[in-house]
Amino acid sequence: MATALKVVPPEESVTKFVARKHKMLINGKWVDSASGKRFPTYNPATGEVLAEVAEGDREDIDRAVEAARNAFENGPWPRLTASERGRLIWKLADLIEENLEEFAELESLDNGKPLKIARVADVPMAVDLFRYMAGWATKIEGNTIPISVPYTPGVKYLAYTLREPVGVVGQIIPWNFPLLMAAWKLGPALTAGNTVILKPAEQTPLSALRLGELIAEAGFPDGVVNIVPGYGETAGAALAAHPGVDKVAFTGSTEVGKLIVQAAAGNLKKVSLELGGKSPSVVFADSDLDTAIKEASSAIFFNHGQCCCAGSRLFVESKAFDKVVDGVAKTAEKIKLGPGFEPSTEMGPLVSKEQLDRVCGYLESGFAEGAKAVTGGTKAGDRGYFVKPTVLVNTNDRMKVVREEIFGPVVTVLPFNDTAELVPRANNTEYGLAAGIWTKDIRKAHQVAAQLRAGTVWINCYNIFDAALPFGGYKQSGWGREMGHEVLEQYTEVKAVCTAI
Ligand code: NAP
Ligand code: MG
Repeated sequence: MATALKVVPPEESVTKFVARKHKMLINGKWVDSASGKRFPTYNPATGEVLAEVAEGDREDIDRAVEAARNAFENGPWPRLTASERGRLIWKLADLIEENLEEFAELESLDNGKPLKIARVADVPMAVDLFRYMAGWATKIEGNTIPISVPYTPGVKYLAYTLREPVGVVGQIIPWNFPLLMAAWKLGPALTAGNTVILKPAEQTPLSALRLGELIAEAGFPDGVVNIVPGYGETAGAALAAHPGVDKVAFTGSTEVGKLIVQAAAGNLKKVSLELGGKSPSVVFADSDLDTAIKEASSAIFFNHGQCCCAGSRLFVESKAFDKVVDGVAKTAEKIKLGPGFEPSTEMGPLVSKEQLDRVCGYLESGFAEGAKAVTGGTKAGDRGYFVKPTVLVNTNDRMKVVREEIFGPVVTVLPFNDTAELVPRANNTEYGLAAGIWTKDIRKAHQVAAQLRAGTVWINCYNIFDAALPFGGYKQSGWGREMGHEVLEQYTEVKAVCTAI
């Protein structure tokens, strides 16, 4: 592990923030949990407790839902103009940008990701998402519709649709991009005029709590955004099942996604889900192989493989197989592991001990089924939750490591002979989140893209995200889309108004 460069200390404001007695945000006030309980969040680079946070449970969720309901129905929020809503969201983006360094440091400390990545990716993308969504506030429109009712001859109608907010929205987010996932959820919910209860992941609650302070500073009315940290089985489950919640939006594992659907059935709340993946990246022999190697490596190793869209099944055309395996393995070996705060670090620790054990368990299962590690294959160091970037060969489509989401820096490389063989194999998964294709043959690229059952297909690139591009899954990778104008469907109801004139 890298030790040469000095670790940058956190900014004083970050150290002070982390050391605080962290509360939860309900109805515009920072309050302790009803039970008085607190839970720890850890620094994954050391395994030490970073901070203790108020632990929300059913009673706190009840209070937050009541606050959100009141804000939705009686507060100043429903009376704001669309422009005023948009301006508040834009102001929030400005405030995050002004505090970019602080957010980047919080993400790095709590999640483990390299500080330099949080600075250029997580935080700027969250800012951009809020700005993009701020612009939509004034553009959420209905239609006027010519209708021709056969059983009322001669009567004329003016018929139109309105897009209205769904109401009180529960949002449950994961730990892999804590601030950005909060932005993906809050941005569209707020621009459409909903009120929110956000539950951050137990592993990474800190940036959401700091965001809560900026939400108040931006001037959002009390109760519009409530932030209740806590465990999934308690706070999360109470939110998903709550009869006073109109919609739940979830990002996380497919397993928990199914629990959310069941919990939501009680009052048939609307559900949107952004779940796991086992995305194929496909390298054709006619691609620019150096670029393909670099990008296919980044497709799996970015964020330590803890991306729902990670390119974890790398299919390589047989003619180029050895060269690509060798290139990806060399790239993996060069990746510098270390704490997120060390300037030379390119890959930090996994988020938690649980995630470390989970990834190591998958590696063992792969080896037991005959897979071979060209590089990596083990954890790294004795402190923190580090796993070596791993390239597995001798794998086949039936192995657990090829079928299941590992959510760590582990890629399985599989040879293929032609497109006809590739497409069904790439689609042979319960997931359908993303895919990547590298080839110089543009016709082939689009033909394959059309046949892949995935919500996003990247051609000659990977992990390209933009607030304007919809993202989400086919099959068991989810319901609905985040970002783009598509997400607004998830946060609005359509009302048809028909007037006899
Ligand atoms: P997870 O359990 O699905 O957690 C995601 C969110 O759901 C967290 O806020 C979690 O709370 C909450 N949650 C957990 N159980 C819940 C329940 N019964 N009702 C309501 N909410 C609940 O994911 P994880 O355990 O952190 O990670 C496990 C695996 O999920 C990973 O290895 C990976 O395969 C997948 N994952 C996918 C994504 C993605 O972006 N699609 C993100 C993270 C993880 P707590 O954290 O407080 O328990
Ligand atoms: Mg943590």
